[in-house]
Amino acid sequence: MSPEKLAALSVNPELTLRQALLRMDQTGRGILLVLNAEGKLARTLTDGDLRRAILGHIGEMAPLSNLPEVAPITAGLNTNAADVLQLMDLHQIDHIPVLDAEKKPVDMVFRRELSQRVWLSSPHLGSEETVFVDDAFKTNWIAPLGPHVDAFESELADHVGIANGAAVSSGTAAIHLGLLLLGVKPGDTVFCSALTFVASCNPILYCGARPVFIDSGPNTWNMSPAALERALEWARRENRLPRCIILVNLYGQSADMDALLPICEHYGVPVLEDAAESLGARYKGKSSGTFGRMAVYSFNGNKIITTSGGGMLVADDADLVAKARKLSTQAREMAAHYEHVEIGFNYRMSNVLAGIGRGQLRVLEQRVNQRRQVFQRYARALQDFPQLTWMPEPPGYRSTRWLSCFTLNGPDAHRNCQTVMKSLERHLIEARPVWKPMQLQPLYKGAPYFSHDDDNDVSARLFNAGMCLPSGSNLTEQQQDRVIEHLRHALAMIGTQRAVA
Ligand SMILES: *Cc1c(COP(=O)(O)O)cnc(C)c1O
Repeated sequence: MSPEKLAALSVNPELTLRQALLRMDQTGRGILLVLNAEGKLARTLTDGDLRRAILGHIGEMAPLSNLPEVAPITAGLNTNAADVLQLMDLHQIDHIPVLDAEKKPVDMVFRRELSQRVWLSSPHLGSEETVFVDDAFKTNWIAPLGPHVDAFESELADHVGIANGAAVSSGTAAIHLGLLLLGVKPGDTVFCSALTFVASCNPILYCGARPVFIDSGPNTWNMSPAALERALEWARRENRLPRCIILVNLYGQSADMDALLPICEHYGVPVLEDAAESLGARYKGKSSGTFGRMAVYSFNGNKIITTSGGGMLVADDADLVAKARKLSTQAREMAAHYEHVEIGFNYRMSNVLAGIGRGQLRVLEQRVNQRRQVFQRYARALQDFPQLTWMPEPPGYRSTRWLSCFTLNGPDAHRNCQTVMKSLERHLIEARPVWKPMQLQPLYKGAPYFSHDDDNDVSARLFNAGMCLPSGSNLTEQQQDRVIEHLRHALAMIGTQRAVA
């Protein structure tokens, strides 16, 4: 709740009951906050309290201080939405003031807003998914493989402009297959972007290989060409050039391919593009996921389009993709009996889920535009907060804005992000920190890491000062207005706290 709205609900104990009734009528929230001389909350006043006072023959010209004392039910800055709701149920009330450490009200939570969570990124179905799924049921193709799988592969490949795709059970599975196809073996080295979701690099460990992490550049948040160059130089000196490089396209935006690919080529190292978050994005007119030797998309529930769970490995090289299909179906040889020469996996996508994917693919461009609009509304509504810097979209890039992300400036950025996220969470709004980079993960402790430059660890700084806002293509304008209102309030509060300190 904004400071202005909070001020309108705040009254002093010298006010008469009649004046309080008038104020309650004007503000229309069914509650007032009675503050003492220091601005601390003395009590809350509901319309029921006023009714009881008048029925109990306290004259309407009497001051509020004549009312019997009652301890107010309140929440603190660390109280989350579930706890607030529990308090409301316990005391049968519909609104709770939030107090800071000095017992001064800084926010209000109303029961009405706790009935609907605003998600970071939730599935958004189109109109045709059920047609394809129904078809799968009617034809009894409830199996891994089937006509929808074949069609989904070719339709997606056509859409992004690549020759072949193999639909699998997850993006993670697709990365695993990609590494195997690039010949990654136990003891090999594989480079990977540091700022990413852990699924980008866990498959390196599945292969028994050793990861080396590469920092982000400040202009793209994606892999830093300078850091990559230093890492490759080091690897050549150590005589352990990586078998491949996993290049991640973060939060719906391509990495800087024109800078990165020539470096990889120079050292003769192939690229596996992790485009799990960037399906629908473009870089200099070309689709994200068409730059590497192979690329991976994910259709997990939170991604821009979804099959509930699923992924795809794509490549121009038909042999590689045929090999991926084989490995994903237990590596069965061409023989009537079950003949096996190499180790395979059960990674294939089901025909039912591919049906969902075909429907989703038809609304992909719409989803990209919707997410970009969500971002633009945030940027416009928050442009008067100079302490906030959005993830940049350099010229020539077209991000999907899968997630709208920003960093806070200033020395207290980390603490301020925590405060903002807690205050959004209190209103049942899901915001998240920027991915915790891999060099900071206990799982990858000790793995070599190359920062952007000696005294600029960009990914650590982005993690420290960054957060992601609800960005779904199905976020309604009303929901987004709610997010913006609470965000503006939280940012204003941080500003005030800094001014006081
Ligand atoms: C989601 C994601 C993956 C993994 O995809 P799943 O389908 O969830 O296995 C890999 N890399 C990145 C960057 C992701 O965001």
